[in-house]
Amino acid sequence: MTEAPKRPMPNPLSQLPSIDELLQADAAAAMLAEFGSGRVKTWARLAVERLRAELMNAEPTEAISKAGVAAKAVEHIGQLRDEFSRSLLSGVINATGVVIHTNLGRAPLSENAKKAIAETAAGYCTLEYDIATGKRGTRGRGAEELIASLTGAEAAVIVNNCAAAAFLTLTATAAGREVVISRGELVEIGGDFRVPDVLARSGCILKEVGTTNRTKLADYEKAIGENTAMLLRVHPSNYRIIGFTASPGNAELAALAREKGVVFFEDAGSGALVDLSEYGLGDEPLISRSVGDGADLVAFSGDKLLGGPQSGLIVGRRDLVETIRRHPLYRALRPDKLTYVALEATLVAYERGTHFEEIPVLRMLSMPEAEIERRARAFADELRSNLPESRTFDVEVIRGESAIGGGSAPGVHPETTLIALTGRGTSAEDIERRLRRGTPPVIARIAEDQVLIDLRTVRPEQESVVIDSIAGLA
Ligand SMILES: *Cc1c(COP(=O)(O)O)cnc(C)c1O
Repeated sequence: MTEAPKRPMPNPLSQLPSIDELLQADAAAAMLAEFGSGRVKTWARLAVERLRAELMNAEPTEAISKAGVAAKAVEHIGQLRDEFSRSLLSGVINATGVVIHTNLGRAPLSENAKKAIAETAAGYCTLEYDIATGKRGTRGRGAEELIASLTGAEAAVIVNNCAAAAFLTLTATAAGREVVISRGELVEIGGDFRVPDVLARSGCILKEVGTTNRTKLADYEKAIGENTAMLLRVHPSNYRIIGFTASPGNAELAALAREKGVVFFEDAGSGALVDLSEYGLGDEPLISRSVGDGADLVAFSGDKLLGGPQSGLIVGRRDLVETIRRHPLYRALRPDKLTYVALEATLVAYERGTHFEEIPVLRMLSMPEAEIERRARAFADELRSNLPESRTFDVEVIRGESAIGGGSAPGVHPETTLIALTGRGTSAEDIERRLRRGTPPVIARIAEDQVLIDLRTVRPEQESVVIDSIAGLA
């Protein structure tokens, strides 16, 4: 008896499409136009690799058609494209009520700052050019002049962020010498900014004084020796010690520093240019007050309470500011033209006295509760009228709290009115995720199984988009 010879199973790997075949697929055309052939080829190669692994693990009995494999490859490429698109920066609507949201880019810029970037800095501009003489001009002069006059300081110099400002100041003015700081101020401010590490990296010798909760002027005084360059004060920003605490005021530290011939430097962090105590932010250092109290140098962020672009501002004594500017590291840490023009536009608003109207951070912080409540109620009514009978969540208006964010004022929670979504059979996590993955992404927060929308950080003209996004989920 003879058996019909078994037909050999075709090698499943022979069904894999070639990269060129994939690039010919209809679905590839739009991607090629948007991203170019280099990137799409990389995705095609990765897709074929993934499929090869899948096919090698597949059961030999599985029917494998060439067309089916190609369709899967195209699907993989689509996923890779989506992953890549999500890795690019995209605008979002911040419905969290966290005003200086570090993960969402801190301060949103004023209209004038945006306009200055688009109309001035995006093209050629007078970054280092003097129109009057046709010769080389001084970089950053306008913004430096503005911040010096707003804070009452003799001079100013600007770098990329406050971490750079603190690092450069320490390096340029105290490297190789002792820096005296209270044990209560050896803090970590988010991510990698740890005061003891920054001091060590800038070549300074840390001389800690006092205790975690109490440090006296005499503690500083006793620590000052021949090799002391500086008294350093660091605003603890996102951290508070409460209860049995004591520390000398800036004026006392400044007087001691002057008497002993050392520099008093304050890393103020947030940097309020105007008194915000009316909004619960009286604990945040007011830069003009630090300067008035006699600090030799003060460093602060441009994109926290100041409400401008990411930058680090150093104000103080002219001789020290010039020492900092002449240090070789300054060249590596100075900002670009986009930062300078946005900062100029932001600072001009303070000079004009229109800061509370113009600068989004200040507008949001000072927004009256009644205004948020009125907006939230109108928003909820409009949203409900857009929802079908069969909606998958309920809409309520509740009281709640916003937050400052950006490592500023951890104990300050301005009262607000929230729109709360409670799922009917869907979880809050599911609603939050779909909002976040929508177009545009709407970032909300979750508490007690409700999705919370805080209009404090949503611009009025964005409200209808948020209503449409939420209604689209119902
Ligand atoms: C936020 C902060 C910094 C870091 O500022 P960046 O602008 O984020 O670099 C440094 N010091 C203090 C006290 C801060 O609050």
